[in-house]
Amino acid sequence: MGDPKGFLTAGREDWPRRPVAERVRDWQEVYVPGALLPIISRQADRCMDCGVPFCHQACPLGNLIPEWNDLVARADWWTAADRLHATNNFPEFTGRLCPAPCEAGCVLAINQPAVTIKNVEVAIADRIWAEGWAVPQPPDRLSGKTVAVVGSGPTGLAAAQQLTRAGHTVVVYEKDDRIGGLLRYGIPEFKMGKVHLERRLGQMEAEGTRFRTSVTVGRDLTAEELRRRYDAVLVATGATAWRELPLPGRELQGIHQAMEYLPLANKVCEGDLPANPLTAEGRHVVIIGGGDTGADCLGTAVREGAASVTQLDIYPQPSPERDETADPWPVYPKVYRLSAAHEEARDLETAPLADADARLFRASTLRFTGDEQGRVRELHLVEVDTERRPQRGSERVLPADLVLLALGFSGPDRSDGLVEGLGLELDGRGVLARDAGFATRVPGVFAAGDAARGQSLIVWAIAEGRAAAAAIDRHLTGGTTLPSPIRPTDRPLTA
Ligand SMILES: Cc1cc2nc3c(=O)[nH]c(=O)nc-3n(C[C@H](O)[C@H](O)[C@H](O)COP(=O)(O)OP(=O)(O)OC[C@H]3O[C@@H](n4cnc5c(N)ncnc54)[C@H](O)[C@@H]3O)c2cc1C
Ligand code: SF4
Repeated sequence: MGDPKGFLTAGREDWPRRPVAERVRDWQEVYVPGALLPIISRQADRCMDCGVPFCHQACPLGNLIPEWNDLVARADWWTAADRLHATNNFPEFTGRLCPAPCEAGCVLAINQPAVTIKNVEVAIADRIWAEGWAVPQPPDRLSGKTVAVVGSGPTGLAAAQQLTRAGHTVVVYEKDDRIGGLLRYGIPEFKMGKVHLERRLGQMEAEGTRFRTSVTVGRDLTAEELRRRYDAVLVATGATAWRELPLPGRELQGIHQAMEYLPLANKVCEGDLPANPLTAEGRHVVIIGGGDTGADCLGTAVREGAASVTQLDIYPQPSPERDETADPWPVYPKVYRLSAAHEEARDLETAPLADADARLFRASTLRFTGDEQGRVRELHLVEVDTERRPQRGSERVLPADLVLLALGFSGPDRSDGLVEGLGLELDGRGVLARDAGFATRVPGVFAAGDAARGQSLIVWAIAEGRAAAAAIDRHLTGGTTLPSPIRPTDRPLTA
């Protein structure tokens, strides 16, 4: 252990974000480049190396957090990298994008700010690439078995890397024109630069994983063909069937799903489009939905130069403090959080009619009204109580000429016929049914990630991919040495 009193002598210090006025003028990541490394060893030293590390328990990947905190505190970066890669294929993704349930479970967080675990993770991950330590690890010998992975999000990629390294011949099919799933088309560039994805894909290709883009399995490649060609199939197609808002005026032009809008912004950053065809520039934007997808729309609309941006949340504004009854330590609490996008909107005062940092809480949309050309112009809303009952006299009207629906996802998209073609069943939650070994009822066909778990997080997706890979390896060879960090039924810690 480094300094046993580190937590007493150093306070929490986060990776500083770039000034708002500067960062909203570009699409680069929001953090100050190079500002993490000088502070991170001292921060890692705040880890108490406590006897029962709940951070480790709270991380679905079972990341060996106290171990690499200690190694970083002692500047043993190479061993820290080795220990991080032991449980996580893609720490540069989680280190940037994970909401860090580990930090909510940090023992220090009982009465002090948690260790900056996520920042330690990303510092190690970036060091791995800076030092050239992420060398390809092709298998020593091939098993002669073939696996098709359908879907190239973090689940499919983690499974593919594990199975390729185990010696199987793995082909990843993706219906989009590029690999990455929501990491590519969904998550904005300012949260994670695509360079991190490209580097991993390069490593995976060098290891032998094969990628096939612009192939919709179920349509371009039939389910029968898939099963005939491969010894095993992993369905990792995500949960992208979006929820609708069937209100009066929904048919007006200018009302779009978040996932119609965000991928176009990604394509601008990829250089495919000169501008977003749905751009927020000069428009009054209202985002319906208080979650992270809504926040991603907010950050994107601010960068596109919206005239105003308001995010509606049907829930009350959370307290800044953890509710010790509902969400006691070490549970991930529902508290008021200020994401980078919310900070930007607040500082730029983009939403003069909102309660706080562009968010309007307890807000329920009633209808949309438009102009003679059929374009949306106004959004009518009402304030609701915690039972979602409208409050008399609280009706308001917001100017709105771009409305983005960020209401979450109900399950896998079934328009491609894959689910029916393979004969897969859905469970009561509308996601792919599977047994304790990630197997569907169709022999040799497995299901993992958001498609089977439901809308979740990247850390869970990577854990699902790793665990499904272990199950597939066992199915193909009769045994496995691959790690299996989670069971299909595992869920986040609750009280
Ligand atoms: C806008 C947005 C922002 C998010 N931000 C975060 C974040 O900051 N942090 C975090 O932890 N989580 C975030 N999430 C959630 C996270 O991205 C998902 O939980 C994760 O990507 C799920 O991984 P997956 O591999 O299961 O599915 P996906 O990433 O959805 O990938 C599934 C892939 O399968 C492909 N596919 C589907 N059907 C077929 C077919 N028939 N043939 C071929 N390919 C097919 C799809 O095109 C897609 O590329 C976000 C989600 C959204 C929508
Ligand atoms: S993956 Fe997420 S939960 Fe796990 S250590 Fe990293 S930030 Fe924490």
